[in-house]
Amino acid sequence: MKKQALVIGLGFAGSVVSRILADSGYDVIALEKRAHIAGNMFEYERSNGVRVHLYGPHIFHTNNEAVFSFLNRFSGFYPYSHRVIGKIDNQLVPIPFNFTSIDRLFSKDIATVYKTKLSKAFDLESRVTISDLFDTQDPDIRDLANFVLQKVFVNYSAKQWGVPFDQLDSTVTSRVPVVIGEDDRYFSDKIQMMPLLGFTDLFERLLNHPNIAVNLNSESNRRIRLHPDSGKVLLDGIPFSGPVCYTGPIDELFDYSLGALPYRTTEFVFEDYDVNCLQCTPVINYPNEEKYTRISEFKHITLQEVPDKTTILKEYPMPYHYGSNMIPLYPIQNPDNKRKYEDYLRLGKSYSDLFFCGRLAEYKYYNMDAVVARAMQVADDILSTPKYD
Ligand code: UDP
Repeated sequence: MKKQALVIGLGFAGSVVSRILADSGYDVIALEKRAHIAGNMFEYERSNGVRVHLYGPHIFHTNNEAVFSFLNRFSGFYPYSHRVIGKIDNQLVPIPFNFTSIDRLFSKDIATVYKTKLSKAFDLESRVTISDLFDTQDPDIRDLANFVLQKVFVNYSAKQWGVPFDQLDSTVTSRVPVVIGEDDRYFSDKIQMMPLLGFTDLFERLLNHPNIAVNLNSESNRRIRLHPDSGKVLLDGIPFSGPVCYTGPIDELFDYSLGALPYRTTEFVFEDYDVNCLQCTPVINYPNEEKYTRISEFKHITLQEVPDKTTILKEYPMPYHYGSNMIPLYPIQNPDNKRKYEDYLRLGKSYSDLFFCGRLAEYKYYNMDAVVARAMQVADDILSTPKYD
């Protein structure tokens, strides 16, 4: 009899696991509750012909060559270095904050002092955090750090996370550094590429395998149940005898028995315009006055040419309420939530066929490349588990 695996969720985590298991001879039953594959990377073409990312801009970047060469099997890629500008004091300046941002926001004399001191304190072209700037103890660098903190981070983060900046986990805010130099790319990874025909196309190829049965509109909580007495996962009431890779929200799998894990979500507001370009740059961040955090104009990310048409997306962050039809987007990393997650994970350990993978199942703010790497690892773990031989 052929080996079977069950995969819940077809974002990157579930799709990569499905493909690797299918390539190794497993028959994979994949359940996806949405009407489409690709999770939050889903792209589609609007009626004006502009392709957009339905759940906000997703930019691929990595230093992990194994991840990139795996994905290369399923799509061509074009070079794309993401650039973001931010509206600060009514000026548009590069984010991450860099020497050009300093030049645009300060008088020539002050800018020279800041740039000279930064160049002495740090390696040129390095990327440092705000706390690295504070740690220098130099009063001018600390003044600059305070400026960047207030104008770039404090209000943006309050909007995005709904809590004061000092309550945020440093792993969140250190995602956006300060650049000691003029590099205005948002990321510094060696590989900065985007799938030629978009993420949905990549996912279609990833899942296009005779051993993978994709079931859309399949709410996993209607089809799978945990059976604590046997330690088995039931599919449609019948014990499933192979590995089960769960990529949905871990609290939902356990019926929120230990309480809901909190998330932030975003209201995505798309606007179409009959002009060739509106802001004419991929993303503008609005750290301060506006209610939205950023506006993306997709043509400048996909590099698609659609004359006299464009679509922008405004992102309004808000709290997520479980049980609503909101989408849990950002896990809120703090010690209490981490503890609650660990407690759920402990419950999961009683089910030896159950493997957790991805942002929702691991309650982790993953970049795309990291989730692909993790999924490759989970698939390897499954393939090297003796009982599945
Ligand atoms: N951030 C900020 N100001 C900015 C950009 C980012 O304060 O202009 C902070 C904010 O807390 C945000 C985090 O850095 O949530 C990570 O930003 P990133 O752009 O990586 O967020 P994502 O694209 O994942 O939403």
